[in-house]
Amino acid sequence: MDRRQFLKATGAASATMGSIGLGFFGYEAGRDPESYTGWETHEGAQQTFNRKRYARDYPHYKKVGPTSRADARTDVIFYRRGDFMRSWKDNTGIEGLPEHLQEYYRKHPDVLNQDLYLMKEIFPKQRADYRKYRDKFILASAWSNAMGAVSPTRINQPPEKSDFPSRRRFGDSSEPLKMKSAKKTSKLIKKIAHELGSTLVGIAKLNPDWVYLYPMRGRGFEPDKPLEVPKHWQYAIVVGTPMSWDPMYANPNYGTSNDAYSRSRIIAFRLASFIKQLGYAARPHTPGTDYDLMVPPIAVDAGLGEQGRHGIVITPELGCNIRPAVITTNLPLIPDKPIDIGIQSFCKTCKICAENCPSGAIPTGDRIEVRGYFRYQIDTAKCHTFWSSKLGNMGCRICVAVCPYTRKSNWLHKAALKVSVNDPTGISHSVLTGLQKRFYPGPDPQKYYIPSLGGENASYRPPPWWLRAEDFIEF
Ligand code: SF4
Ligand code: SF4
Repeated sequence: MDRRQFLKATGAASATMGSIGLGFFGYEAGRDPESYTGWETHEGAQQTFNRKRYARDYPHYKKVGPTSRADARTDVIFYRRGDFMRSWKDNTGIEGLPEHLQEYYRKHPDVLNQDLYLMKEIFPKQRADYRKYRDKFILASAWSNAMGAVSPTRINQPPEKSDFPSRRRFGDSSEPLKMKSAKKTSKLIKKIAHELGSTLVGIAKLNPDWVYLYPMRGRGFEPDKPLEVPKHWQYAIVVGTPMSWDPMYANPNYGTSNDAYSRSRIIAFRLASFIKQLGYAARPHTPGTDYDLMVPPIAVDAGLGEQGRHGIVITPELGCNIRPAVITTNLPLIPDKPIDIGIQSFCKTCKICAENCPSGAIPTGDRIEVRGYFRYQIDTAKCHTFWSSKLGNMGCRICVAVCPYTRKSNWLHKAALKVSVNDPTGISHSVLTGLQKRFYPGPDPQKYYIPSLGGENASYRPPPWWLRAEDFIEF
């Protein structure tokens, strides 16, 4: 046996032993409800303080006299001071104010003094210093404003209008800020994306092949004109968050994409707002349907993962439980590199998604050429027809739930990933697929259908307790 054969044989042996060990320990640990290995439910993880021994029959505030309600016009300081500053005139004084303010200030002359002091003494000084020192706080302000940005339901304007900032929040022009380097900016953008709540983030140079030839409705383009890829769509930042795990495992009925969709949507709008405040163009492309481009290949280009047999991007951290959004921009960035974590090899032998897909939409064969690229292609018509052949929430997502990569990030999942990613032989892929089929079996796919189509309204896993209607509602 030469050195190469020896290495291959020992690699195969350790991959096999590693996989079997994982299967054994994973099965044992999974029987313990405290282990959090991903196949038991786990409730209330965030709220850890036991309030029971501190409970009282009354709240700490006490009613000590006649009660009354607050007047928003005077008791909410932003409203009162706003009205006050708009209507105050030195020559008329308190008499020139609206009646409710006159009444208020007569009762509270000390507050009138404070409000006048703010307007006449403090504001002018702040404005003068603002010009001198504002640059120091540019990023803090951009971040804060981004956090406050609300996503409109639709963009409704073409990129040359909607993508560019009308004026920077700080500064007197809309000129882009001079960034020190693309490398530093990329680091900053990723940190901001995480601060905004994104679980994963990656950057790609935008390949125009991923932009739709004709636009989606309601995105500000003329619907019957080919979409010309705007020059300022140079980079694509991909952000993404997972769907809530326990309902996701209870697909096709109890899971929803809307939880992660809305989170990723808000993050994308906020990140676009942040970039615009630096003076650069930015356009969010967000789930459910507000995209001008195809997201999965961009997520692959951005190094978030590989596209699996089911057509969804599989990431090392979340498997395919990720709902991404994209921000196109001309902010100079350094793109990430695509990754190879062995998913193409794994999908060749696995096929679990195809076997569990109730509509037969996922191919069992090899990848094919689609618009010049080699990839798996699912039958979207069959998939979508199934969505109306079941009850519960819209969509299906069984392929997400059954994929062996879609497991909570715990020690077992991390160890299995380490074995499969580092196995040059592919042996662990077969072993892990076998263990997955053995320990995570799903119902017969026909059972997912509604009873009038021969099914049983089945779900891959039982719903979490908080979605069991029968336990809370009298029928
Ligand atoms: S969503 Fe459901 S029907 Fe569609 S491909 Fe996945 S498993 Fe099949
Ligand atoms: S279930 Fe298996 S075949 Fe399907 S995408 Fe996941 S790893 Fe690939």
